[in-house]
Amino acid sequence: MPEQRIMKLPGRKRRNKKIDFRAMHETERLLRGLGLHTVCVQARCPNISECFNRKTATFLILGDICTRRCGFCGVRHGMPGPVDPYEPGRVVEAAARMGLRHLVATSVTRDDLDDGGAGMFAELIRRLREHDSSLKVEVLVPDFRGDESAAATVALAGPDIFGHNIETVPSLYPAKKGGDYNRSLAVLSCAKACAPGLRTKSGLLLGLGETEAEVVAVFHDLRSVGCDYLSIGQYLQPGRLNLPVREYVSPEAFERYKIKAHEAGFFHVESGAYVRSSYLAERYEQRS
Ligand code: SF4
Repeated sequence: MPEQRIMKLPGRKRRNKKIDFRAMHETERLLRGLGLHTVCVQARCPNISECFNRKTATFLILGDICTRRCGFCGVRHGMPGPVDPYEPGRVVEAAARMGLRHLVATSVTRDDLDDGGAGMFAELIRRLREHDSSLKVEVLVPDFRGDESAAATVALAGPDIFGHNIETVPSLYPAKKGGDYNRSLAVLSCAKACAPGLRTKSGLLLGLGETEAEVVAVFHDLRSVGCDYLSIGQYLQPGRLNLPVREYVSPEAFERYKIKAHEAGFFHVESGAYVRSSYLAERYEQRS
């Protein structure tokens, strides 16, 4: 049984800033006008109004159709279309028009591509560096089916942060269709081995039925492969066909996890119901 079961989702902390809907719609229009996808929209992220209002977003490259079907993910699945070679250029344009200082890019899982899309991540990093060498670039990559050369391609392209989400505890990995816990750890380990100074990051979503002891064991596994940063958030069922929420984790438990993650050695941890790996992503580098 989970150790921190409570009956309802803890209320979102009242934020001082009001949502400026005009700014939010401007971001939406800009991204739509450039034909870009975001994980914010595709995964139905609960923070979308706040992030779009702040003129930030997480770019979803390589299309909006995923070749896998994880039980907790709201992104569409099926057979993706061809890779668009002009997509990195449009992301660069969006970064310039949005005035981004920290850009996060992720992708759907592209098991249909020989390199899993690693080349496209590398090209995007290169183009962003050309555009603005001071821009912080964070990538959140899939597991590339364990292909170490694909992970190395991305790590060696020189992002500031290399992320790969472990998502859940090993006993619940059947929810991550096509995923493998040790393979995910190996992706992070490989990035660190290729580029030793590179900061690596991972994320966990809680509320799928994990126990506290299992979560803490994941912290230590991630640290054993040198993972520097961690996000811990509450799983929210994105659609009726996705896995149900098994529990809503209390604010006290999120705080406890944060302390335990720091004790395990992470440089920066964000922990809370609405935390997602890209939420307030600029904070990790500022505070480490
Ligand atoms: S938390 Fe990340 S995915 Fe969610 S809206 Fe913000 S930038 Fe997008």
